[in-house]
Amino acid sequence: MPVARLRPISRHVAAVDLHGRFQVAVFLVRHAGGLALVDAGFPGWEYAILTAAESLPRPNRITTVILTHSHADHVGAAAAVAAHASAEVVCGAREREFVEGRSLARAARGLLPRVVLAVQHWTSRRRVAPIRVDRTVAEGDVVCGLRVVEVPGHTPGQIALVHEADRVLLCADSLFNVGGEIGYDPVPGMTADLGRADETLERLASLGIQDVAPSHGPAILGDAPDRIRRFLSARRS
Ligand SMILES: [Zn+2]
Repeated sequence: MPVARLRPISRHVAAVDLHGRFQVAVFLVRHAGGLALVDAGFPGWEYAILTAAESLPRPNRITTVILTHSHADHVGAAAAVAAHASAEVVCGAREREFVEGRSLARAARGLLPRVVLAVQHWTSRRRVAPIRVDRTVAEGDVVCGLRVVEVPGHTPGQIALVHEADRVLLCADSLFNVGGEIGYDPVPGMTADLGRADETLERLASLGIQDVAPSHGPAILGDAPDRIRRFLSARRS
C-alpha cells in the first residue's frame, strides 16, 4: 500500500504522489461538479487515491476517471475507483482496446519490456476487475476543463491533458522527470515508438505552456518548453 501525499500544482490541479515500488503520481483536478482523477496508479491503490480525494474540500466526489494510457501503473486502480465513486471512465479512442484488456506487450521494443508488460497484463487480469471505458476522447475534446492532446509514442494512443484555465500540461509518460533529469522511460524499450515520442515532445514544446507535470517525478515549472527542446537537441547530437 503506497503512502499518498498531495502536492499542489496549480489552482485546480493537485498531484497525488504514491510512492510504492517507484515514484508514481496521479492527479486530482477540480471542476464545477467535483473532481476528475487523471490516471489511477497500480492495482490496489484505490484506498490511497480515494482517501486523498476525501481530504479535499467538497464537492470532492471523483466524477470522472481519465486514463492517459494503458500501462499498469496508470490504470491499476481505475475499475475500483470508478465502482466506488460511480465515476465515468474516459480514455483516448486509440488506447481503448489496450485499456480494456488487450496486452500492450507487442507494442514494446525488446524482450525485457515485452516480458514485463505480459506479466503485468496477466497478473492484473487475475487480481483486478476489468476496466469498462464509458467514453473515448480525441484531440481537442474537453473533459472537466482539460483539453485532450494526442501524444503517441510511449504507447500508440496515449493522451495528455491541458488544463485550459491554469495553463498546465499533464503530459503523462511522454516525458519522465526522475533522478533530476528529464527523459524517456528509464526502462529501455518501454516507450514503444521513439520516433513518434520525439515528434510528440516537439509538439508539446510548441504549445506555449510553461508548466508541465509528468506522471513520474516533479513538475517542470516555468521553463518546460526550453527544457524539452534542450533534451531533444541533446538526443539528436
Ligand atoms: Zn507508461
